[in-house]
Amino acid sequence: MRLLFVANWKMNPGSVREAVVLWNATKKYARKMRKTSVVVCPPTPFIAPCATKSEGLVFLGAQDVSIFPNGAHTGEVSGNMLKDMHVRYVIVGHSERRALGETNEIVSRKAQATLVAGLTPIVCVGERERGEHGEHLELIETQVKESLRGVSKAKVLKVIIAYEPLWAIGKTSAHAMSPADIHETTLFIRKILSKMYGRTVGMSVPILYGGSVENSNIFAIVHDGAVQGVLVGHASLVAKNVSDMLTALEKAQ
Ligand code: PEP
Repeated sequence: MRLLFVANWKMNPGSVREAVVLWNATKKYARKMRKTSVVVCPPTPFIAPCATKSEGLVFLGAQDVSIFPNGAHTGEVSGNMLKDMHVRYVIVGHSERRALGETNEIVSRKAQATLVAGLTPIVCVGERERGEHGEHLELIETQVKESLRGVSKAKVLKVIIAYEPLWAIGKTSAHAMSPADIHETTLFIRKILSKMYGRTVGMSVPILYGGSVENSNIFAIVHDGAVQGVLVGHASLVAKNVSDMLTALEKAQ
């Protein structure tokens, strides 16, 4: 399986001109990759200026989606609208959206809406802090179970899980989770998926890591953390970083 590099631009950059420059640079680097797929998730207004039919292994993603397919839902954007703009992936349940009140139930409805539109949901889970007695594992288990409620065994094979411990997000590589801990936690998530869907499916769903992935730690995270890719926030906003991180990912495979 190809590794996946997902760039979450969040509410950046500040102008459409900068967004198109960054998108074009990311595409240029991504096209050189043989083993890595790249997904760029710009803010919604910048999707259209970046939207072209997917080229090679570079895809557009969205940072959110409505639970509704259409209708009187002011401010919402449907999965079909995103699909029409050549979007292929949707981040759902990012911790920054959960912090605004998004519950596991809403996340599961968004994951389902994404699948119904024929897009791939990247379902985010992750603990706020690690408990000394493994309390965080209970929270991760609940998040995985409830965020995937209503997603059938056939459909879950189209889902990607992004494990993002909140305490590691938006810092520097020194604060990222260690590859050994990433590996251990993703095995735990696979155990939950296996209980829900059976071992074959549980072992097949791709799991990404996110949280202060930068040039200096991306190789170890993928190589020793045994994840199928990364979700990258701040470091994906600098074209040179993207180039270096993609080169490291190619070497890690
Ligand atoms: C994120 O918020 O999804 C994320 C991974 O951010 P950062 O890389 O900046 O920690």
